[in-house]
Amino acid sequence: MVPIADPPLCSSSLSSLQTLGSDGVRITMESALTARDRVGVQDFVLLENHTSEAAFIENLRKRFKENLIYTYIGSVLVSVNPYKDLEIYTKNHMERYRGINFYEVSPHIYAVSDNSYRSMRTERRDQCILISGESGAGKTEASKKILQYYAVTCPASDQVETVKDRLLQSNPVLEAFGNAKTLRNDNSSRFGKYMDIQFDFKGAPVGGHILNYLLEKSRVVHQNHGERNFHIFYQLIEGGEEDLLRRLGLERNPQQYQYLVKGNCPKVSSINDRSDWKVVRKALSVIGFSEDEVEELLNIIASVLHLGNIQYGGEDSGNAYITTDTQIKYLARLLGVDGLVLKEALTHKKIIAKGEELKSPLNLEQASSARDALSKAVYGRTFTWLVNKINVSLAYKNASVIGLLDIYGFEVFQHNSFEQFCINYCNEKLQQLFIELTLKSEQDEYEAEGITWEPVQYFNNKIICDLVEEKFKGIISILDEECLRPGDASDITFLEKLENTVGGHAHLTTHKLTDGKTRKVMGREEFRLLHYAGEVNYNVNGFLDKNNDLLFRNLKEVMCMSDNKILTQCFDRAELKDSRRPETAATQFKTSLAKLMEILMSKEPSYVRCIKPNDAKQAGRFDEVLIRHQVKYLGLMENLRVRRAGFAYRRHYETFLQRYKSLCPETWPSWQGKLADGVSTLVKHLGYKPEEYKLGRSKIFIRFPKTLFATEDALET
Ligand code: ATP
Ligand code: MG
Repeated sequence: MVPIADPPLCSSSLSSLQTLGSDGVRITMESALTARDRVGVQDFVLLENHTSEAAFIENLRKRFKENLIYTYIGSVLVSVNPYKDLEIYTKNHMERYRGINFYEVSPHIYAVSDNSYRSMRTERRDQCILISGESGAGKTEASKKILQYYAVTCPASDQVETVKDRLLQSNPVLEAFGNAKTLRNDNSSRFGKYMDIQFDFKGAPVGGHILNYLLEKSRVVHQNHGERNFHIFYQLIEGGEEDLLRRLGLERNPQQYQYLVKGNCPKVSSINDRSDWKVVRKALSVIGFSEDEVEELLNIIASVLHLGNIQYGGEDSGNAYITTDTQIKYLARLLGVDGLVLKEALTHKKIIAKGEELKSPLNLEQASSARDALSKAVYGRTFTWLVNKINVSLAYKNASVIGLLDIYGFEVFQHNSFEQFCINYCNEKLQQLFIELTLKSEQDEYEAEGITWEPVQYFNNKIICDLVEEKFKGIISILDEECLRPGDASDITFLEKLENTVGGHAHLTTHKLTDGKTRKVMGREEFRLLHYAGEVNYNVNGFLDKNNDLLFRNLKEVMCMSDNKILTQCFDRAELKDSRRPETAATQFKTSLAKLMEILMSKEPSYVRCIKPNDAKQAGRFDEVLIRHQVKYLGLMENLRVRRAGFAYRRHYETFLQRYKSLCPETWPSWQGKLADGVSTLVKHLGYKPEEYKLGRSKIFIRFPKTLFATEDALET
């Protein structure tokens, strides 16, 4: 599938536009004007009616139809998932984008990659590329394309080849353990990921570092209909060798495992678990996992499946007991723990009160949730261990860095819970960073160019971030307070406390606090946040449990006694001695987000905004309602407004002069004087009015797209 080229709107010279369409096709056959009509503009800042959402979406649609999935808003790249393989990621394409000016070629993820790389090299400033968008929009694919671009185009040496391989191979491993089939995406990342790619002074990739955020651990024990558990479970069962499965006590049938049957979806047509297993096994060894480590890792994965198959007997109100010892035997062997102690820990709870140990039996419901809590803790901590292990294998010091952030976009479902609350809070923080950095870079550019700064009005979402994260009065603080309060604390008392403490806040409402009209669309167990991107109702059910994320002490003790070397690193005895409550999930997330913001603040950002064209995962379908929703939640109109508030278009004098010099007898065939004088002569000759443009130190700034279009069309006549 070869997309057609963009019209020659922003090419720097006629000769380059003749050869440099996105597919290399010559494009001088058609006038720029008709091409623009057909495929839209390659930069939204050039839209005539830039405040119109309809015009924005129409431009996206035109381009999507022609397989032009990328469009800029200034330096932000908007990408629409094509749901089919386009031949735009070949080595030739990579070469074409190397060292080229951002605007000389059709918009592309490689242009963003190359631009960041060159800024890192020439300005000696660390970079980051922030990729956002909803599930299935193409974030992970985009981040892989960026990584591949560096792996192919950057200089290399023998040692670097190993690092490149490891960097690339970290993807299948992390995806096996952190991705799953959901209703929205067959390969959905169920964790947030920030990855630093480190480069040495020659510009060769020499290392990396990964930070992971908020793995969706609940998937280990439960999946919604049509969804699956993490890929690794199916890969092991479908692909694992006979003797391996025998040793792990597993059957080659996912239907046998309680943790794999909840979604009633063992097979996915787009996924080949058996061949993926081979890829993952190879990747583990490329990254440097020893055979022993792989064995221990698989012991843990198998143990989680055995844990899930533990059945309890007993009355609802009576004490729970484990009905058969089969799973306990496997668990004892695979984890290297005492079966009896484990059995006891799965049916009793131990608490320390006033220095004394008290043990009390669990009822059926408590025992099941203790078992599930153990599975989640074991899987979640093993995932973190895996990330750390990859980091050790990629470790390098004193490097320049390009960071890639592939993190969940805004989520608004029918039913929104604690997870959506955390994810949307994360997006508020990223929006704040975006506003600060975009406005700052606009301001910096105007200052650097000696042009008077024209302030842009925008909504500062700090007020919402504060509402969530402020000490004492913020939603997370209030939630933590309820989590720590002994006695009658519940999800509902948390909601009441919210009402009492921040009830008057302009961005928060509850059923009780609203008028009759709003009340109709709100549940009694909900609070509503007015996010920068729109309103979201959160159901408080489960907030306390999810935030507490508790694992009974005796289960922790058993894991600390394990012979499994990975588990001994995951469950530290020091944790048992520490009498303080562990940090809650929301507070941990808040702290890790604050660190992430610091990391990102210290770098120069680029943005990739991904859009999913339809819910059916189908090529060629452009669902306008769905897309409009995403344009809103990605804040693209606001983004465009900020970018257009001053000048729509800016170019270096040299680039501008080179392209349009033929339009003025004084600048053709070449201008001998200062570049700025040449541009000034040229635009005066073209009849630019003083209010239409400004001349900075090194660039011309043009206020309206129509001025530029007129000049562009003059080239054609
Ligand atoms: P999630 O938040 O669920 O992890 P995501 O934004 O990371 O979603 P991806 O996994 O990157 O989404 O993309 C979903 C699917 O869409 C891919 O598996 C692939 O089939 C298709 N896809 C995405 N981007 C492209 C692309 N540039 N070219 C072709 N297909 C693509
Ligand atoms: Mg993803």
